[in-house]
Amino acid sequence: MNLEIVGPDSVARLGIPLDDNSSYLRGCARGPARVREVMASGSMNLCSEDGTEVGTDRRFVDAGDVELAGGAASMSAVEAAVDGLLGRGARVLSVGGDHSVTYPIVRAHARRHPGLCLLHFDAHPDLYDDFEGNRFSHASPFARIMEEGQVSRLVQVGIRTLNTHQREQAARFGVEMIQMKDWHPGLSFAFDGPVYLTFDLDALDPAFAPGVSHHEPGGLSVRDVLSALSRSTFALVGADVVELNPTRDPVGSTAAVAAKLATELAARLLKP
Ligand code: MN
Ligand code: MN
Repeated sequence: MNLEIVGPDSVARLGIPLDDNSSYLRGCARGPARVREVMASGSMNLCSEDGTEVGTDRRFVDAGDVELAGGAASMSAVEAAVDGLLGRGARVLSVGGDHSVTYPIVRAHARRHPGLCLLHFDAHPDLYDDFEGNRFSHASPFARIMEEGQVSRLVQVGIRTLNTHQREQAARFGVEMIQMKDWHPGLSFAFDGPVYLTFDLDALDPAFAPGVSHHEPGGLSVRDVLSALSRSTFALVGADVVELNPTRDPVGSTAAVAAKLATELAARLLKP
């Protein structure tokens, strides 16, 4: 990690090269390096659609990657890394890594932002009590977050895999869900409190984002997401983009989607 360049007005990109908690395929650990590479490649100018010049804004800095030891120690390392950046006054844009990283990231944010709300894009609810015995599984982060009462609201968007166990978990935790079958153009999101946004790339249809471990057809377009976010006014305090699997992304189109989303989220985090 590189902390020297992170100041109180920074938006810090933080890589979390972890795929230990993936249930089906490995490869997400290479996600942060790939997104960093694409954002620096010159193939895109890193200007967000609202005109924010993220690429040349000195406040947008690269904090490097979290050093990971494996297992529970990796979860603690992520939480400590994010907490350290938040302690310097920065806002954090994390790049995964599988979705297990969002549990420690949200713990760090919840300590600093009472009443934190969670806006979660995903094909999957990720509410399993455990998955194949792993309570840190990428299928379980929101069960951990909700049972600890870390956030005041969890709003899930794009869900299209809601089985009985997770339906019961969602009811138990009071999760608000906009399932994909109920998505409609013109939809927007409203929150009273500070918002943390977590974006699992498999929320998108595999047509737009094939470079993920779990292909779940019938999803969102990139345009759907950007339009809904641009219609929504809320106070964004942190964000992540997770589940890019470069081994499933032969021409790099999903990495470009991840870089675009990272640019748009960075622009939003740069707003006072
Ligand atoms: Mn997920
Ligand atoms: Mn997912």
